[in-house]
Parts: sequence; structure tokens; C-alpha cells
Amino acid sequence: MEISTTLSDQVVDDAKLSEILAAPGFGIHFTDHMFTTEWTPEKGWHDPRITPYGPLTLDPATAVLHYAQETFEGMKAYRHEDGSIWTFRPEANAERMVRSSRRLAFPELPVEEFVAAVDELVKVDARWVPESVGEKSLYLRPFMIATEKFLGVRPSQHVTFMVIASPAGAYFKGGVKPVSLWLTEEYTRAGRGGMGAAKTGGNYASSLVAQQEASAHGCDQVVFLDGQEGKYVEELGGMNMYFVFKDGSIVTPQTGTILEGITRSSVIELAGKLGHQVSERKFSIDEWRNGVDSGEIVEIFACGTAAVVTPVGSLKWDGGEVAAPASTELTMQIRQALVDIQYGRAEDSFGWMHRVV
Ligand SMILES: *Cc1c(COP(=O)(O)O)cnc(C)c1O
Repeated sequence: MEISTTLSDQVVDDAKLSEILAAPGFGIHFTDHMFTTEWTPEKGWHDPRITPYGPLTLDPATAVLHYAQETFEGMKAYRHEDGSIWTFRPEANAERMVRSSRRLAFPELPVEEFVAAVDELVKVDARWVPESVGEKSLYLRPFMIATEKFLGVRPSQHVTFMVIASPAGAYFKGGVKPVSLWLTEEYTRAGRGGMGAAKTGGNYASSLVAQQEASAHGCDQVVFLDGQEGKYVEELGGMNMYFVFKDGSIVTPQTGTILEGITRSSVIELAGKLGHQVSERKFSIDEWRNGVDSGEIVEIFACGTAAVVTPVGSLKWDGGEVAAPASTELTMQIRQALVDIQYGRAEDSFGWMHRVV
């Protein structure tokens, strides 16, 4: 894949950039460039290019605007102490996008092309990757959209894949603190045969009203149960969950409809290496309530690219509440181990890091 590059002649100046990187927030500021490639049945993937960051011009009849044929990824680039820049398991993101693409009836973007696209954008916008202090990073957002101008319902015959990038500050500003959860008993995020296992915007659109419900009840995040029986814990809609038992064993939900996070699989490996027995299985909401009450469950945490690993506090639902588990010790240990690998402060014995610059 030969990527053409047109550099911006209006890049953000150094003074403005250091101001942005001092307090980047999340998803507010975007880098000077973006990556684009397009697909048609005749040409396949073609015209990969880096161009100045800017708005798209889309016909109002563009398919994605109507039928939400879309997939995306979320990953980060980290600057190490020596100035080098790395991504974390980028092939895993590429492979997940292939799986999401199959579910959304998209053409598959080869893993190497996905990784090359992300690498090239990070190289061109390397000055946007913040210093390693304070868990800052460059958040990367690859996404694929149906760009055919057509209102018929069928897979788009014109597809656009893009990568944009946005500097991100630490998820927790005043130090890591447990997130409180609201259990929605009305809404589900996925059903059998649905697209819960795909990273696609529609899953997020359907989660917004439940998140509103959580906020209205004074909770940080919402937890979803399975769509069939309304009995098994799924995930938070953007983060996967873990339950730590008194004997050191760990359970993470496996229902077939959760989105399997790359942080999730990394935590499974890390916890295993730390000597914990980790099982992926169905985990009922009653097991949660009773386990915390009896002291059998000693820690609960959630994980995803944005927050890395976060302790889970209390759980509220319509008519009840269960308190935060006793400890956050293992949670913080796993969190630290992962962050240290990502920022190059610990040996990467799993071979997870990918050097870009
Ligand atoms: C992206 C995502 C996660 C977390 O995945 P990571 O790869 O760990 O960032 C969890 N749940 C949903 C629904 C997601 O979209």
C-alpha cells in the first residue's frame, strides 16, 4: 500500500499545541492530518492518503447517515521516556475491525493496511503525542462508513475508511476513583444474533438513554444485563467487567453478546501471569449482589482503552443498592502493570507494544 501525503500548510503552531497538550481533555482537539482510503467493488481498497484534517462533504443521501452502516476502533499511541512512540496491540484492533466489518456487511480492510494507516498518521502528527507524564496519550479513532449515495437498503457499494487522532488527558484527573453503577432493567445493549460483539455506532446510540437514566440516579455509568433472560451481567457499554473472589480467582462475563475488549484480553493474560485463575463465564446479577453482601467478592473492576482499568463502586437499581466491595488492591496492581507496559516503564514480556517512531 503506497500512502500519498499532502501536508497541511496550516498546522497548529507550537505555542497553541503546548497549550492543548497541557490539558487535552478527551476528543476535543484533533491533529493536523487524517488518513483516508476508499473501497468500491471494481477497485477494492484504493487511494490511501494522508491529507490535512478537515470536514467531509457528504451528499444528504449518503447511506451511513440513514442506516448506520458503520464500524470503528479506539486505541492509543504512547510516548515513552526516550521520546519513542508506540501503539498497544494494533493488530488486535485491526482484527476486531475485520470481525465488526463482517457483521456490518462491509468489505474487510487487511490487518497490515489498518496498521500501516495508523502508523503513518501517528508519524505525520508525532508532535501531537503528549509527554508520558500523567497518563496522557494520543487517542486514535479508525472508522469505516457507508458512503454510497443511495437510499436502498443493502450493503453500500462505496465505503470510506479513515483514521483521525486526538490528544487525551488522564481519564481520572484527581487520581483513580471507583465508578458508581446504575443497573438498567429496562434497556439492553444487545440481543442474540444482534451486533453486540461488533464495535459499531448503533450500539452506542442505543446506550445513550440508559446512560441518561444512570446520570439521573446519580451514577457514573450504566451496567447492562443480557437481552434474553435479563439475568446475566454483560458490560458497561464501553468497558468490560471483572469480579475478584476472596480466594483470588477472577470471573469476567462471557455471554456471546459482549464486545470483547483488547484491554479485557490483556487483563486476562496479566492476571494469569500474576497467579490468578481467570474464568470467562456467565455471571448473574444475583451472584454480584450476594457475593458483595457475603464478602465472597472482594473487588470489582471495569476496563477499556479510555480508562485502562477502573475500580467499580456501588451498584444501584430501582429499589435497591449494593455497596462497593471491600478492596481495590488487585485492581490497582493490574492497572499499574498494564500502564507500565504501555508507557515503557516495565518489560513487555507479552510482546504487546508496537513501535511507530
Ligand atoms: C471498545 C469497547 C470496549 C472496550 O474495548 P477495548 O478494546 O478494551 O478498548 C468495551 N465495550 C464496548 C461496547 C466497546 O465498544
